[in-house]
Amino acid sequence: NEKMLEVKGLRTSFFTHVGEVKAIRGVSFSLDKGEAIGIVGESGSGKSVTSLSVMGLLQYPGKVIDGEILFKGQDLTKKSDKEMQSIRGNEVAMIFQDPMTSLNPVYTIGDQIMEAIRRHQGLNKEEARKKAIEMLKLVGIPSPEKRVDNYPHEFSGGMRQRAMIAMALSCEPSLLIADEPTTALDVTIQAQILELMKDLKEKINTSIILITHDLGVVADVCSRIVVMYGGLIMEEGTTEEIFYNPKHPYTWGLLKSIPRLDLGGKKRLVPIEGSPPDLLKPPKGCPFAARCPYAMKICMEQLPEFYQVGENHRTLCWLQDENAPQVEVETGVQR
Ligand code: SF4
Ligand code: MG
Repeated sequence: NEKMLEVKGLRTSFFTHVGEVKAIRGVSFSLDKGEAIGIVGESGSGKSVTSLSVMGLLQYPGKVIDGEILFKGQDLTKKSDKEMQSIRGNEVAMIFQDPMTSLNPVYTIGDQIMEAIRRHQGLNKEEARKKAIEMLKLVGIPSPEKRVDNYPHEFSGGMRQRAMIAMALSCEPSLLIADEPTTALDVTIQAQILELMKDLKEKINTSIILITHDLGVVADVCSRIVVMYGGLIMEEGTTEEIFYNPKHPYTWGLLKSIPRLDLGGKKRLVPIEGSPPDLLKPPKGCPFAARCPYAMKICMEQLPEFYQVGENHRTLCWLQDENAPQVEVETGVQR
């Protein structure tokens, strides 16, 4: 399979006035052409910082301090700001949780999509307008010929999110990074947007990184899942493995905290107690040890290495050590 993205040994820190916050502490993963993966974790786990590092969008005082980010074989950490700008416009696109941060309230939706199209595809105004209408139609905006002249405030939240996806996709990126793209939306619209992303993956063969705190969101769209915590990957596997054969206590916690609408209409949400580690002084052992019900002495003292538990499945947890006790866990996810 052709590699779209290979992140190797990524370390990103924020050099604040109180010290170095080690937000990403050695993260490696890859993504094939046309593949969709999910990066999942609570806020503060490092998932957004990972994507901002890839996009070259880290804000001061954030800095990639080590590792490689190979996009189609080229190391993005070695690109100038100007080169990154051109890559972002043409080949890699990003959508964020709040579309209002990316849409300009004083221009029409159409003007903004046309601007993106003209900048990247060199079309004239009339052709760009036609393409903008086409894109709005593709993302399921009703009467796109009329809606193209609306301002962002005339769109509902769900429609703005679709418009932003249209804008991101109008340059036909080979990689789309979506950071919590549906978090602010209600459940029905959320499902529609995810369905749309799935469609676009098939139609345009775009590779997708979907970043979310909600494991439930990635199940349908992604074939692989990377679970992050404390600036590290805790577990990585196929969606099937992560849901039905999870090996990491943090993944177990995330699975139990998925809102369940199917159980008598009641949400069954069991949050993981405690809060993420302070990455100004990262724990020397497993970052999850302070919250893990299975923590052993060694967990506090030493960071585990990855254990390969299946062909495409690895976990960073001492429970896989041959001397560790056997634990069986009921995550509530049924096949
Ligand atoms: Fe829990 Fe230890 Fe595994 Fe960390 S290494 S998740 S503390 S059992
Ligand atoms: Mg985030």
